[in-house]
Amino acid sequence: MSQEIIEVEDLTKKYGDVTAVDGISFEVSRGEIFSLVGPNGAGKTTTVEILECLRRPTGGNARVFGFDVVDEEREIKRRIGVMPQEFNTFERLTVRENVELISDIYGKSGDLGGLYADRGLGEEMDKSFDELSGGMKRRVGIAMALAGDPELLFLDEPTTGLDPRARRELWDTIRGLEDRGVTVFLTTHYMEEVEELSDRAGIILDGKLLSVDSVDDLIAEYGEDVKIVVKDSDEAEGILERYAREVTVGEKGEVIGKFDDMEGATEAHFSLYKELSGRFEVDLVGPSMEDVFLNVAGGRIDESGRLVK
Ligand code: ATP
Repeated sequence: MSQEIIEVEDLTKKYGDVTAVDGISFEVSRGEIFSLVGPNGAGKTTTVEILECLRRPTGGNARVFGFDVVDEEREIKRRIGVMPQEFNTFERLTVRENVELISDIYGKSGDLGGLYADRGLGEEMDKSFDELSGGMKRRVGIAMALAGDPELLFLDEPTTGLDPRARRELWDTIRGLEDRGVTVFLTTHYMEEVEELSDRAGIILDGKLLSVDSVDDLIAEYGEDVKIVVKDSDEAEGILERYAREVTVGEKGEVIGKFDDMEGATEAHFSLYKELSGRFEVDLVGPSMEDVFLNVAGGRIDESGRLVK
């Protein structure tokens, strides 16, 4: 069986004059968590919906499980699970009824007990959907998407709008899917989510895929230096100069030391702590997907998903 579960080649989608997806190519391997990351309007949902056979491409082609998204829609649809953006379902039905409805449609009895337990829905399964918290509703979405026993799951911005705690809980749920061998394709505008969850990621902006690689390689290639930032301390500069490659003073008077690796930074961090006896705020900042996005896309994405240059 092919290792590549999704193969996309020069894919394009136009809506009238708007080119939503502009000649993108990438692959997703079986068993991995792949993230498509970009701001609002970048073309994420359009790409996902083409792979789910809900929209037709204008150009190029895409294959899922080796089947063509235009000509072999049925083969693909019966093997995938989908949680759309802003997921919603029958509000008056209970969690149990909603999930059972989907497994009936797919004609799969499935291990529903396990499904509820896995998704942390045990206590909630007899409540109606409209009584649940935002985080719980998304878990129901995942349980429903899994009810047809899919090999590949699409999650379109699964944690948008959730508070940090609910977001972390949902991450645990998504990690559990990878352990079960389900391939996950997710879209997001949260860099932390990419770093926490994904094996590989593609950065999309204005319909173009700017970079695609493993998260580790993206960070190694585009991540910034390891930094130590000390606030309001004149003494820090002298100490940092003994260890850092470069020491600068930031706009707010903070002293910044840049290091080639985490080892040197950790040593300096320890000395700062000892010599300043914990009197100042010292932050150790590693390279991250935030730097990667900034360097690749020339901006950052704010909490609402907008690109800020
Ligand atoms: P968001 O997170 O805001 O949904 P996205 O990255 O998923 O963003 P898309 O929804 O794929 O992006 O939208 C890409 C571009 O295509 C945007 O400019 C959008 O306005 C446009 N677009 C999307 N759907 C349609 C449509 N049905 N008709 C016309 N234009 C559309």
